[in-house]
Amino acid sequence: MSKPLERLSDISSQCRQAGCTEHALSYSANCWQHSPQSEYLQTLKAKITSSKKGEALALHLKRVEATDIDFSHLDLKNSCFSQCRFSDCLFVGSDLSGTDMIGARFHNCDLVGANLRQANLTRAAFSDSSLAYADLHESYFIEAHFKQTDFMGARLASTVLWNADLAGIKHLRKKNFFESDQEVDPSQAGINESNALQACETYRNIKHYLHRNGLYEDASWAAYRELTMERRHFFKTKDFRYFPSLLMDLLSGYTEKPHRVIISSLAIVFFFSLIYYFLKIAVPSSGATQAQTFWDNLYFSFITFTTVGYGDLIPRSEPVFRILACVEAFSGPFMAGLYIFTLTRRYAVNG
Ligand SMILES: [Zn+2]
Repeated sequence: MSKPLERLSDISSQCRQAGCTEHALSYSANCWQHSPQSEYLQTLKAKITSSKKGEALALHLKRVEATDIDFSHLDLKNSCFSQCRFSDCLFVGSDLSGTDMIGARFHNCDLVGANLRQANLTRAAFSDSSLAYADLHESYFIEAHFKQTDFMGARLASTVLWNADLAGIKHLRKKNFFESDQEVDPSQAGINESNALQACETYRNIKHYLHRNGLYEDASWAAYRELTMERRHFFKTKDFRYFPSLLMDLLSGYTEKPHRVIISSLAIVFFFSLIYYFLKIAVPSSGATQAQTFWDNLYFSFITFTTVGYGDLIPRSEPVFRILACVEAFSGPFMAGLYIFTLTRRYAVNG
């Protein structure tokens, strides 16, 4: 019968080597540097193999260089794997939530279906590894690097991906950033956006990644989020560019949403027709003075917006009314140009 495995709280003693300030590793009296390393790895393997399924093991393995260890389906919540180097190790379906993996390296490791919620993977490096179907909700990947790393089906909602190098990721999609989970707030779709400027840069990286991989619809989502984050940053820093940014979002969804151009065009026509109606601006060119109905004003607004100008209705001759009609007449071609540009971006350029 094997001895019950220690928990992190039991082994938080200091390394016994004189002058060493590191904590001792799990199942050892010393830190990695002062342990007989190959013997230690054998002990670790034996302990891992003999552990019961579902048993909570909070391991302290700081700086350990482990090869070919199977951590699959273990409860490793809140373990410390800081600066570890794992090669050919398995973490399939492991519970790694809340683990400290700062600066850890994973080479040829399988983390399929692992729970990495709120794990700290700052400056972690992955190569030839798989995070497929892993739960990375609210985990930290600040300045993390990925080389040939599979993210198929990985759940990345609310992750912190600031300055992460995404180029080597495989199978990243927009849907990775959305939760289908009931317990997660749907408004948390996307990455962690607490720092608008960092989130803006991260969305830009994601956009470039998705565009490079031919995922234009998904890239359009990232582009929209990028500019929304930029606008939030303008708002926080009281930058006047907030207003043109807000206008471009309302008019065209940052040229990513063609239907918004149509809706905002109709809104402009309706808005002007209300002004014309209440100020009684539209009058027949024949000189008749009977009151014009709202529909007459709506018609006049449409004809002005589209710059058709049949001439059956004209603005009253006071300069301010003419200027008002000119403003609407100018907005028509502007919106038409914006619509064509938006469509071109969405369909022609992307194709
Ligand atoms: Zn030591």
